[in-house]
Amino acid sequence: MLNIVLFGPPGSGKGTQAEKLIEKYKLVHISTGDLLRSEVAEQTSLGMAAKKIMDAGELVSDEIVIGMIKKKVEEHKEGPGFIFDGFPRTVEQARELRKVLTDYDERVTMLISLQVPREELLARLLKRGKEMGRSDDNEQTINNRIDVYERQTVPVTYYYEKMHKHIPVNGLGTVEEIFKRIVKEIEGFEKFHQPS
Ligand code: ADP
Repeated sequence: MLNIVLFGPPGSGKGTQAEKLIEKYKLVHISTGDLLRSEVAEQTSLGMAAKKIMDAGELVSDEIVIGMIKKKVEEHKEGPGFIFDGFPRTVEQARELRKVLTDYDERVTMLISLQVPREELLARLLKRGKEMGRSDDNEQTINNRIDVYERQTVPVTYYYEKMHKHIPVNGLGTVEEIFKRIVKEIEGFEKFHQPS
C-alpha cells in the first residue's frame, strides 16, 4: 500500500492536492474535516457537538476522530492505500494511526508537509469563506486555527521526522506546479525505499 499523510496548515491546499493524488494513484481519500462536516450536515449528535468546536477553530477530541478513521480504514483495507488529509493533527492521533495500520500489517509511507506562509493562508481562507461560505472561514476563527495548528499539530512532523518520513514541500505556486513537486517526492521516495 501507498499511505500518504498530506499535511499542512489550514488553507495550504491539502484538499486540492489530495484530489489530484487520488486520481493519479487511485488512493482512498480520508479527510477528517469532510467526515466531520457530513456529520454536521446530517445533524447527528456527533455533528452537533463537533460544530461548536469547529466554529471556534479548536480540535475535536482525538477519540471521535480516531473512531471515524478506524471505520474508514477497515472499509478499505484491501485497497491500494490511503491519503490522510487533515489527520493526524495531534501526536496522539499519529500514535493511534500507527496502531490501526499495524493491525493490517501496514504503515504510513510518508508525510508530505505543504509549506505556506501565514499571510498567504489568511488571504486564501478569507477568499474561500466568501466563495464557499464555510462557517469557520472568518478572520477570527482562521487565526485561531493557524495558532492551534502551530501549537498542537506541528509536533506531528517531529514524530514522523524521527522515522525519516517527513517531507516538506513548497506550497506556493500553481496547483500544477505544487502537484509536480509532490509526485516527484513520492516517486523518489518509493524508488529509494523499495529497491526492485
Ligand atoms: P482546515 O485544514 O482548512 O482547517 P479541515 O477541513 O481539515 O480544515 O478541518 C476543519 C475543522 O475540523 C478543524 O478546524 C477541526 O475543528 C476539525 N478537525 C478536522 N480534522 C480533525 C482532526 N484530525 N482532529 C481534530 N479535529 C479535526
